[in-house]
Amino acid sequence: MVDQNFKVAVKHAQLTNELLNKHQLAPTPINYSVFFVYVKGSNSTLTKQLELLVESNQIDDTSINELYELHVSQVTQIDEEILSPLSESIGLVLSKLQQQVTSEEEAVTNLQKIDKVLAKSKQNSSLQQIINYVQNTVNGSVTQHKSLSQDLTKTNNEINELKSKLSEAKEQAISDPLTGFLNRRGGDEKLAEIDIEDTHTTLIIDIDHFKSINDNFGHPIGDKVIQKVTQLIRKQLTDEDITVRYGGEEFVVVAVNKALYEAQDIAEKIRLAISQLKLKQKNSDKFLPKISVSIGIAENKNEKYWQDIIERADKALYEAKNSGRNCIKIAA
Ligand code: GH3
Ligand code: MG
Ligand code: MG
Repeated sequence: MVDQNFKVAVKHAQLTNELLNKHQLAPTPINYSVFFVYVKGSNSTLTKQLELLVESNQIDDTSINELYELHVSQVTQIDEEILSPLSESIGLVLSKLQQQVTSEEEAVTNLQKIDKVLAKSKQNSSLQQIINYVQNTVNGSVTQHKSLSQDLTKTNNEINELKSKLSEAKEQAISDPLTGFLNRRGGDEKLAEIDIEDTHTTLIIDIDHFKSINDNFGHPIGDKVIQKVTQLIRKQLTDEDITVRYGGEEFVVVAVNKALYEAQDIAEKIRLAISQLKLKQKNSDKFLPKISVSIGIAENKNEKYWQDIIERADKALYEAKNSGRNCIKIAA
């Protein structure tokens, strides 16, 4: 299996280089990545577009750059398509090199033994010279292989660092810094990963009369209130539940794999905990007025799109606001 992967990876790298040569393109990271993905055949749109460019003789740095922007430059793709396979191939080369070094070192040990025997007999000095020569050659090769191995280890470490930076960047791109909830884009991505046809329940939570907190205490205190509220929301949920900062002081929670009655219980705990918050302004020791939230809940019916479920929950939220706030309403 390992050998097979190795051969395939080497073959892909060779073909990539051949194509770059053929089209007289420099092996820049961008050109290399685009052709590598093409050779792997893992992105059918890229394959098609690249083939069209070849047919119409339009391959140049600009057109390749466009393909890169369109298909390869996204963080996940860079990781999945380029870095991970590259790191895997380097790992395989490293293990092969290690095997090579081990057998070369064994050869050196054996040659040393022969050398000792010959040294005693004193008759075979020309043979001894040959043995010494071979010994030096193998030693040289061990040194070379070890140094190559060091270089590759360094490259591999750099790739791993890049991978972790990319995953940090990805994390940042989908989350809201104030609350740690997902931002809308992150919410869309996460929701797309779960099966909408299973039983889930969606909550929309909106802070009541939040504008007056901002007006009376200032925006920074408003931010602190948002943080407190989101901490209390998170406390009632499990890791599989999805929390999204949907608007300024409005949050969507998807209680994953939870039926309406379970989510209702969670919503009530959230509502109660927030209504019991006692917040004091640090520098003035003044208490903030009571904070409360209104919540709309909708269990998924036969919806195909999350947006439709969220809209139903939003209608229920609107009802909760009209019923005096600090309460929960369930969507029809
Ligand atoms: P309701 O009970 O009907 O929800 O009333 P409300 O005052 O909460 O609703 P409204 O939508 O009128 O006001 C929301 C306010 O939230 C307006 C906006 O200035 C504020 N806001 C939005 N995002 C942020 C934020 O990130 N930080 C702070 N401090 N305020 C924000
Ligand atoms: Mg509000
Ligand atoms: Mg609002």
